[in-house]
Parts: sequence; C-alpha cells; structure tokens
Amino acid sequence: MATPALRDDFRLYIDGAFVAGEASFESLDPARGMPWARMPAASAADVDRAVRAAHRAFDDSAWAELTATQRGRLLTRLGDLVAAHAPELAELETRDTGKIIRETRAQIGYVAEYYRYFGGLADKFEGAHLPVDKPDMEAYLRREPIGVVAAVVPWNSQLFLSAVKLGPALAAGCTVVLKASEDGPAPLLAFARLVHEAGFPPGVVNILTGFGEECGRTLTAHKLVSRVAFTGGPSTARHVVRNTAENLAYTTLELGGKSPVIVFADADLESAANAVVAGIFAASGQSCVAGSRLFVEESVREKLLAILAEKARRIRIGDPADAATEMGPLATPRQLAHIEATVAASLEAGAALVTGGGRPAGFEDGLYYAPTILACAGNEVPCAAQELFGPVLSVIAFEGEADVVAKANDSPFGLAAGVFTSNLTRAHRLIRKLRAGIVWVNTYRAVSPIVPFGGYGQSGLGREGGAESIRDYTRTKSVWIRTSDEPIADPFVMR
Ligand code: NAD
Repeated sequence: MATPALRDDFRLYIDGAFVAGEASFESLDPARGMPWARMPAASAADVDRAVRAAHRAFDDSAWAELTATQRGRLLTRLGDLVAAHAPELAELETRDTGKIIRETRAQIGYVAEYYRYFGGLADKFEGAHLPVDKPDMEAYLRREPIGVVAAVVPWNSQLFLSAVKLGPALAAGCTVVLKASEDGPAPLLAFARLVHEAGFPPGVVNILTGFGEECGRTLTAHKLVSRVAFTGGPSTARHVVRNTAENLAYTTLELGGKSPVIVFADADLESAANAVVAGIFAASGQSCVAGSRLFVEESVREKLLAILAEKARRIRIGDPADAATEMGPLATPRQLAHIEATVAASLEAGAALVTGGGRPAGFEDGLYYAPTILACAGNEVPCAAQELFGPVLSVIAFEGEADVVAKANDSPFGLAAGVFTSNLTRAHRLIRKLRAGIVWVNTYRAVSPIVPFGGYGQSGLGREGGAESIRDYTRTKSVWIRTSDEPIADPFVMR
C-alpha cells in the first residue's frame, strides 16, 4: 500500500504573514504511529523576526493607541471565532496528539470562554489614586503593559494553555510570540488563522513552532522579551530560567504535578471512584493535574480498589477520533517508553499490579498503554514518586488525617489535591494543611477562566487564569504631580 502524502499546509505566523520557516519536521499521528503532516520549524532567525515584529507592534499606533475597550473587543471576537471553529481545531488536536475527540471538542469549546472572559476584563483593570502623605502633591499609579511576551507551551492542551497566556497579555496591551510545542503543534498553527481573521494588527500575535533548543531558547533569551510565560516540565523550566538571566524577563512557570486524591471511608465511594478515574485516565493521564496518587483510608481500601479496577477494565480504548472512545494513545514514543520503564521499576520495587501494566492487546501500532493501577507501600515507589504523565494510578493506604496529610504533602510538587469526604469540618482542616495551589473537595479537575490555576514548590511560580493574572502582564508607573503654584524654595530639601 502506498504511504499517504503528508499534509504540508501548516505555516509559521510572523508579523501578520504565514511563512514556511527555514526548516521542517514530520509530526506523528500517535494513534497510528506514523507521520501524517510536515510542520515548519522556526530557526533562530525566524524567532528573531517574530520578536522584532512584536517589539515594533508594541509601540505602533495600530495597537498602542487602541483603547482597552477596543482590545477587549478583539479578544471577544477571537473567542467567537474559536467557538465557531472548535470542531475543526478539535479534530486537528486529536489527530496530532492522540487526545480523544470527546475531550478536545469539550475543551476547545470552553477555550472560547477564556478569550471572552479576558476580553470583558480588558477595560476593567484599573490603576489607583494614592492618598499620598504630602499636602501639595497628587500621586497615582498607572498600569502599563509589560512589553513583548514569550509564551511557551507543551503539547498537551496547547490551545487551552495558550489562552491563559494570550488572554491576559493582550487584554493588558502586550504583544506576544507564542511557541507551540514541537509535538502536536497543528491546532495552534491553525488557530493563527483565527488570530489573523479577528483583526489583530500585524506583529501583535506571532505563532511559531520548533524545537526547544533552537526555537525555545532563542525566544526566551531574546533581549527584546520582557515577560516569559512558560508551561512545561520542571527540568525545561530550569533552562528557561537560565535563558532569562540576560534579558531579566519577568517569568511565570506552570509545571508538573504528582497530585494526591484522598478518599476517606465516609465518602460516597462510587462517586469518588468516578472522579478518580476521570482524574487519572482522562487524556490518558497526560494532564498536569492528573490525580496520580490515590490515598485511600485503610478500612475501605479493598472495596475502593475493586470498584476502580472494574471501572478501569471497562474503559473503552480506541481511535481517538471516534466519539465513543474513552481513552486514546499517548502523544509521543518517549512518553510510552518512560511509562513502561517506570512501571517495570515499580513492580521490581514491590508495587502490586491491580490492573493494566502494559500495552493493550490489539493496539500494537499506536502509542497505547492500558489504564493501570498499582498498589504501593508508599511514596518512595518510582510510580508514586515521579510524574509519569500517563494512565498510571499509584494507590497508597492511610489511617487518619495526620497520616494522610503527611503522605500527601510528601512530594516536591504541589499543583492540585482532591479530598473526598462527607465530613465538612474535616474537609476544611485538610484544605488548610495541603500544600497545593488547587484543592478540589468532592470533585476533581474542574477549571474556569475565573479561577486561578498554578502550584506550590516544583509545580511552578505564579498563577494563570482569574482577573489577577492580568496584573502579571503589566508593570506600574508611579506618577507624582506637584499641585502648588509656589516655586520650589529650597533645592536641598525634597518634599
Ligand atoms: P517540555 O518541558 O518538554 O516542553 C515544554 C515546551 O518547552 C515545549 O514547547 C518545548 O519545545 C519547550 N522547550 C524545550 N526546551 C526548551 C528550552 N531550552 N528553552 C525554552 N523552551 C524549551 O514539556 P512537555 O513534555 O511538552 O509537556 C509535559 C510537561 O508539561 C509535564 O511536566 C506537565 O506536567 C507540564 N504541564 C504543566 C501544566 C500546568 O499548567 N501546570 C499544564 C500542562 C502541562
């Protein structure tokens, strides 16, 4: 059978134009394990052109002189375009990352709300009049856009992770160079056409893809960049922080997690089990907030494990483009290899396999891994210690609140936590003690443009989403105005 030709119409978006880029690479269809499209790879020279375009656009009257209300309208229009084109963007994301169509459709439909939310906020973000302690002075604070933003996203949920950066950045009046991951960049490159159609002036938003070392490093280290918004893994984040040593860009980092889900004996176990399954097996576990460590109270351990094993075995694995599929493949061969190796090491370290533990039969061509549950003695087992970014749940028993707080917090990460209990006072005690940027009680994985998102410790610096996130794309200018008509008398006394 002849190999189908690779799709070859994806372009970089630089200074309002769609351009080929200096190099290219093949993008893999994870469900079939075969390349399906050719993507442009931005070189250092492409990145430099994009940053210079964003720098020019920042001061250009076409953007700089828009009112906040006008910027808001552009964002709202972009949100409407995303909503109208959600089905085709979802199909592209599913094809390029293997994420199931049910999820990409729902998530991208909701991404539109992020642009609408930040569009609505653009002219509601205010400076301040300061009650200064001098009788003949007025002082006020202007909030000004910080400058050129370098936004870097990983391959999972690229449209979503871009919206929490582009939304506040553009609402504030910044200009942006957005780097899609080299894995699964198709939906963001297609999204560039919507940015263009929305009517942002050339250079205000530039969208690239390319490899971390050349494209990512050149972008985050560029001397004309004032702000870096990064989402990805902790080790890449350290490179990014080093990259900003010269431009001293204000940097926020949204990194990984090893989030605990805690189930007490008094919880509705069936409901908790559904949340646990959604928390770890949705997106095949490739979610930064995956609830990958389950802490279950000893007295209900066997019962909950039985419910979970049954639900995990019933998950419908299949073609991610099929609306009936509940779990698709992993996105990259290196993910699959990492998961296989870590599960093997965990079994060797004494973990007991409850279900899964390998590639599912009948899916040998794609990058599939079965929903897997491992019973572990503690956090030191490799699968419980490391972020796997895959469909692997590590289950650890506990006895009492103090025990579970100590175990849940025993991780360098601190992105999210889930607590399942019918005891409200206990829930409040745990909320205070858990080291996590998000705590869900009797639910898991809820997100909204209105609620900030981000973690403690190795899970990152800063928060995305919510009204306050616009602040991180501005800096203040303190303005002093002397209101007295009297000449300044003594030049050696400052008042
Ligand atoms: P990654 O860190 O390998 O890559 C992220 C991005 O950084 C990519 O665009 C990559 O090209 C770029 N990059 C790589 N090297 C770079 C360098 N030297 N300088 C600048 N940029 C560089 O992450 P990944 O494997 O694509 O994604 C998985 C990781 O992302 C996981 O750790 C996951 O938890 C995390 N994540 C976090 C969140 C969150 O909001 N907290 C959300 C999704 C994913």
